[in-house]
Amino acid sequence: MKIYVSGLYSGGNPQPGVGITRSLRQGYPDATLVGVEYSNRSSGIHWPELDEVWLQRPWDELNLSAHGEAIRALLDGGALWISGSDLETMWLASVFPEGHANLLTPNAAALARITKPQVEAHEGLPVQIPPYIPTDRSDWDLHAFCRKHDWRVWLKGPYYDAVRTRSWDSFEAVRTTLAKVWNTERLFLQAHVTGYEESVMLCAYEGELLGCVRMRKREITEEGKTWAGDVSEVDEAFLTPLRRILRELNWTGGGELEMVRDADHRLWLLEMNPRFPAWVHGATIAGVNLPALLVEGATGVAAQRPEPGRGEFTRVVVEVPVRSEFPLPPLPEHLGGGTGHSLKHPSGLPALAERLHKLNVLDGGDNETSSGGDAPTVPNTMVEDLLAQDFNRIETPAWVFMESTAADTFKRAAAMAHTLSTNQTRVTNAYSIKTNPDARLIKLALDSGFMAEGISLLELHKALEVGFRPDQLILNGPGKWWPEGMIPKEQIHAVFCDSAPDLKKTVAALNSGELKAKIVGVRIRTPHIPSRFGIALDTPETFKSLVESIATLPEDTGFGVHFHMASSNIGVKAWWRLFDSMLRWCQSLERLTGRTIEVLDIGGGWFPDDWHSVDHSDFAKAVKRAQAALPNVGQIISEPGKAMAQPTMALAMRVLETQEEDGEITEAVVDASIAELPMYFHYPHRVLTQDRGGDWKTLKRGKSQLMGRLCMEHDVVAANIELPEGTRAGDVLVFCDAGGYDRSMSYVFGRG
Ligand SMILES: *Cc1c(COP(=O)(O)O)cnc(C)c1O
Repeated sequence: MKIYVSGLYSGGNPQPGVGITRSLRQGYPDATLVGVEYSNRSSGIHWPELDEVWLQRPWDELNLSAHGEAIRALLDGGALWISGSDLETMWLASVFPEGHANLLTPNAAALARITKPQVEAHEGLPVQIPPYIPTDRSDWDLHAFCRKHDWRVWLKGPYYDAVRTRSWDSFEAVRTTLAKVWNTERLFLQAHVTGYEESVMLCAYEGELLGCVRMRKREITEEGKTWAGDVSEVDEAFLTPLRRILRELNWTGGGELEMVRDADHRLWLLEMNPRFPAWVHGATIAGVNLPALLVEGATGVAAQRPEPGRGEFTRVVVEVPVRSEFPLPPLPEHLGGGTGHSLKHPSGLPALAERLHKLNVLDGGDNETSSGGDAPTVPNTMVEDLLAQDFNRIETPAWVFMESTAADTFKRAAAMAHTLSTNQTRVTNAYSIKTNPDARLIKLALDSGFMAEGISLLELHKALEVGFRPDQLILNGPGKWWPEGMIPKEQIHAVFCDSAPDLKKTVAALNSGELKAKIVGVRIRTPHIPSRFGIALDTPETFKSLVESIATLPEDTGFGVHFHMASSNIGVKAWWRLFDSMLRWCQSLERLTGRTIEVLDIGGGWFPDDWHSVDHSDFAKAVKRAQAALPNVGQIISEPGKAMAQPTMALAMRVLETQEEDGEITEAVVDASIAELPMYFHYPHRVLTQDRGGDWKTLKRGKSQLMGRLCMEHDVVAANIELPEGTRAGDVLVFCDAGGYDRSMSYVFGRG
């Protein structure tokens, strides 16, 4: 008996070849085991239990048809082949469309039905697929997905690689890298599921399940790979549908379903692999030798049974001698500070992926990379606002005030506050002035029934100048008494204190008559949330001292609580969890201080789309929960800043120069820069340009870089955008969604 085993990479993210070899050796002590590799740097080629090593040219050099024929000759001659690599398996399925009795890998149709992330074949298993979104959607939609899932998301390649991306700039960087490595734009983002990882490993021959085990990861490496695990039986509820599915797929070979079990014991399927997992020998140790069962099923030759073992295994690192015929490769040249070879993808799988794309073996073919995905949509008001401008007469870069968009945004916020208000509790918006202190926006806020929220006395004065009354003002933040001597003489609506000393100072100002405020409150910082703001509640001592300070508030002042975490950073779901946690802290405060909370201020930090499209019913329910928890709350204030301001301004710029390669624009220099778009790294901006017919169109992703006018390496205002054909110097591009912190935090730079 001669068995070929491939996939011998044995680093931190190992392939299963060595484990398969060890298990086969246990089951068939006399078989000839041949290791197959495409790189002499996969250390598994030195595993002593291999009788021979069949080392091939790297995948990018290999003559694929000759290799396919050589394998056919081996199989025809009676040898068996077990693949340890997904891509090799896919390629083999294309070489042997009808399969081969001695080829122990799944067929092409079965492979097509386990493609990530949907894993069509899972129907019937007691598992769910975590929410995902393909990355050919617009950046705008991808960012929304990340916010929705609290930035607990994975960016995954179609075959290998999964990277947690916790922010927009890291997402963009990883997307660029993965697309390049795997030569495809076909990536996807998937929501993280918190829970314990477990797998079901199986083997089948011509559709008949031969054996399977369940394994829970007990220790994992930094990359999340198994280091130790426990092995147990697969329960009947899983086994019955699995058996049926494998029959339907006519499955041959090993396989693994990777899953997460959440706190409610629900199973989520991450992927189904068409091969044994690298921990395969861990199950053999525990008494279930699946590679041997597979060979037995294929050949009818009985395997030696493994010793019944204990159900747990762990890994260790083992040194083995290097085979004399394959000495270590020489050290690389001293270049660029390198310290040796990197063990990332030593077996050249990215090169194989590239070739398989060209051969159309992997779905999509090679021309898919040119598609820039969906173009983002913009509200009609934005297009109207742009049509109302005469860009021939605008000197760029220029801020464009989007008048009807702004009016619409404030109108909707006012309507929402009105709808959510009840007889018992009024819901009030307060415009956060710092987000964009443009007088036009402050005036819109005034006209839309907003209050005005300032973080400095200067901001309050600006609101007064625009027409706000003192009793419509809210003062907030850690430096709010700046500059000195500017506290309004009349009573203002509310002051929220950011620290214990701040509370002391506020009480003193109230007692001396320097400050008059209807409501005085505290900003609280709920435990486990990293923030520099608010009064911490994380120890009994800090909580006690907060309770004591609140007792010093004058009796004739109302009491309130403010909390503020940016849902645009922590995510929408996390924000709602925090809201409920905050309500519980408020109940404790009421009980311990004996003071009732009259005003609840829930801050800002909402991304516009989340705020405006937030199902009003979510908010309505939240108002009900607040009323139930804190029956004396007569007013709930929200302080939207960017949710109002961000869509209300756009940045217009002109192209200064374009550079082309093969007739395609690869780079363009524009007269704007990150000095005008400082939020560029934090969220995507929708970019529009006017076509020859005068219509405004949003641009898709593409291969051009838009470089700012500054002489700075990182001044790239769009890293992957598709400029329309014929774009030339002088053309106008408009970056929307720039009316929040882009506008207010832009700086003067490079203007002499
Ligand atoms: C900045 C700020 C806001 C508004 O935040 P956005 O992120 O612009 O929505 C609201 N309240 C306070 C106290 C703030 O400091």
